[in-house]
Amino acid sequence: MSFASLGLDQNILDQVKKLDYSTPTPIQLAAIPAVLSNQDIMAGAQTGTGKTAAFALPLLHRILQTKASHHTDNIQVLVLTPTRELAQQVHASFIKYSANLPIQSVVAYGGASINVQLDALKQGCDVLVATPGRLLELMMKNLIDLNHLQTLVLDEADRMLDMGFIIDIQRILKKLPETRQTLFFSATFNDEIFALSKALLKDPQLIEV
Ligand code: AMP
Repeated sequence: MSFASLGLDQNILDQVKKLDYSTPTPIQLAAIPAVLSNQDIMAGAQTGTGKTAAFALPLLHRILQTKASHHTDNIQVLVLTPTRELAQQVHASFIKYSANLPIQSVVAYGGASINVQLDALKQGCDVLVATPGRLLELMMKNLIDLNHLQTLVLDEADRMLDMGFIIDIQRILKKLPETRQTLFFSATFNDEIFALSKALLKDPQLIEV
């Protein structure tokens, strides 16, 4: 199976080619069509499996389609990560994959200037990658509009729970639009992870790689 057969926009395929990705990894093969068809996903995947492109590529495709039909600067995709390092990595991946596209990714995490992050948000933001604490701060101060969110991605959900972010996550979820796609990624699974995923996902496609 090739990237070309997965239904992605030609501009995205060109970028994938430039990066020398010749074939999709197993998680990409399973996740890309599911994300494109607007399904929820529960994926068991370690770092290094290509999981970031598995959600980033189809989400970029969807944003391109939305922007082609009407002008919008609203945040369409929110990726929550447990650490600022992972937030930076995921943000860098979105930038890498959308290098030739009219799509803006912004990253927000604690321990760095909120004003710099707010300035970036004001320039226009289609994809926001954030850690739970800083996102809550932005939400509580009414500095961010997530009313048009289409997709929520929880990356490394197990680490988010290990780090004690469950209350933050629940507070964030309460304020997100209920009609949305949710993509759930975790390297490990236990009762707590299953409970969270069950509360979040509607009829998810299960992907194990
Ligand atoms: P991740 O699991 O998302 O952290 O990705 C691990 C690494 O694999 C990253 O450096 C990606 O650039 C790279 N990568 C992702 N998908 C592919 C692919 N289909 N072919 C080759 N490399 C890839």
